[in-house]
Amino acid sequence: MTQEQWGQLKERLQTKIGKNAFKTWIEPLVLHKLEDGVVTFHAPTQFLGNYVSQNYADIILSEFQNSSPDVRRLNFAVSAGRPSAVAQPVAESKAPLNESGQGSKLDSRFTFDNFVVGKPNELAFAAAKRVAEGGPVTFNPLFLYGGVGLGKTHLMQAIAWELQAGKPHLNVLYLSAEQFMYRFVQALRDRKMMDFKSIFRSVDVLMVDDVQFIAGKDSTQEEFFHTFNALVDQNKQIIISADRAPGEIKDLEDRVKSRLQCGLVVDLHPTDYELRLGILQSKVIQQKATYPDLGIDDGVLEFLAHRISTNVRVLEGALTRLFAFASLVGRHIDMDLTQDCLSDVLRASDRKITVEEIQRKVSDHYNIRLSDMIGPKRLRTYARPRQVAMYLCKQLTSRSLPEIGRRFGGRDHTTVIHGVRRIEELKQQDGQIAEDLEMLRRALEE
Ligand code: ADP
Ligand code: MG
Repeated sequence: MTQEQWGQLKERLQTKIGKNAFKTWIEPLVLHKLEDGVVTFHAPTQFLGNYVSQNYADIILSEFQNSSPDVRRLNFAVSAGRPSAVAQPVAESKAPLNESGQGSKLDSRFTFDNFVVGKPNELAFAAAKRVAEGGPVTFNPLFLYGGVGLGKTHLMQAIAWELQAGKPHLNVLYLSAEQFMYRFVQALRDRKMMDFKSIFRSVDVLMVDDVQFIAGKDSTQEEFFHTFNALVDQNKQIIISADRAPGEIKDLEDRVKSRLQCGLVVDLHPTDYELRLGILQSKVIQQKATYPDLGIDDGVLEFLAHRISTNVRVLEGALTRLFAFASLVGRHIDMDLTQDCLSDVLRASDRKITVEEIQRKVSDHYNIRLSDMIGPKRLRTYARPRQVAMYLCKQLTSRSLPEIGRRFGGRDHTTVIHGVRRIEELKQQDGQIAEDLEMLRRALEE
């Protein structure tokens, strides 16, 4: 069964089950392999896989049997979402990386396609892409570093996937530094150092994730250093990640540090608002495969991108929870539901921007006195900045409207609503206001 035959088969399925059902359920499936009469598909989520298997398996199977009579069974494995007990994660069935059992399992979601690029990560992305081409080694090692949850593991595994697809003859080994140490200790214990050395010295591409882990572990570092040098001498590509720059990793020997620094060192910067929004938008598309009927209000993603600025993992988790919760209670996703469902996450990642801070920044920005902003004057010179400040308070703090009103000289909450709406309108029409808001928000979020 080739992809082309599968394409033809899909067309027949579409006429049989209708365009909409096809789009929702069949299109997301990826034909993975046909082996021993079993056709394996990758489904983006467990839910989708189960649904198709319960509702469309017969019809798909009979289509298959028309062209290949020896097909007996269909199998749906999850390619995205959490690996589950029922379906096998894709990575397990891909042998080359892990055939000798030394590598870590790859997460099938961690591909370049699923990686959203923005200013904070564009350099790291470009470098990763370059290495993934598998061409002549131009910088060695590639050293990726950055804070927790910013996509280091994702990028490294994306390189592994891409190399595996594009250069299947290359022996690519991805593993965490912790695993490296574990293998090393085991080899010492079992007196199999020769095997250990020959495995690590025969790879074409070595990727070691979270290398800060081996800091302070002297003999592991020593072995790592030798492995590293042996591979560099053979002009083999090495890719390393860590949570900080090589020079900043404590208890790492200087010779290791300087080795790590001699290639290309790129960092993943903390996410900015645009990147977070982009990531959320792309994750919503994935969620919709599981929950095709769930609606989500405008503004919810923007709100989350503003409020959850810690790391992408938390952002992702929040969205998954939101969709699951909304589907359980049978409601579409609006602001109220979001606040209810995510109150703990929102509280935890509250950057604690205060109303006072906003008032101060805004009055500075417009060059007016704080007392005039809060006071009763209704001149445009004061009223507009006041509205801007109210708007920002609404966006960036968890204060209620009445509370915000009170902090602005005891104004009524309807005045706050009016102010916020006015700024929302102006933001669309007036480039200057939009720019002011953006600048102020950045300054406040720093
Ligand atoms: P790190 O290894 O830097 O701690 P990970 O690579 O494990 O972070 O990323 C944490 C989670 O966030 C993963 O689920 C990953 O897919 C996701 N993620 C991080 N950055 C991005 C991005 N730019 N686009 C899409 N998903 C991302
Ligand atoms: Mg990681």
